[in-house]
Amino acid sequence: MDKPKRLEMYLEQGDGCCNCHDYSIDGGPFEQEGVFVTQNVWCMACGAEWTNVFKLESIRDFKIEDREK
Ligand SMILES: [Zn+2]
Repeated sequence: MDKPKRLEMYLEQGDGCCNCHDYSIDGGPFEQEGVFVTQNVWCMACGAEWTNVFKLESIRDFKIEDREK
């Protein structure tokens, strides 16, 4: 099985291509399944394709309507 050349760097920085680090990457829609979100991504520079897997880490900007009247 092929392995991306810059996988460790990609997992730390999360940008560019995981193989050639070019920024000519494009991606499909984000698909959520529970706490995981996946996205198919491809690089137009080297032709690599992969699926990013994101996991819910936290939330922010929580608000709730005040219903006590
Ligand atoms: Zn690439």
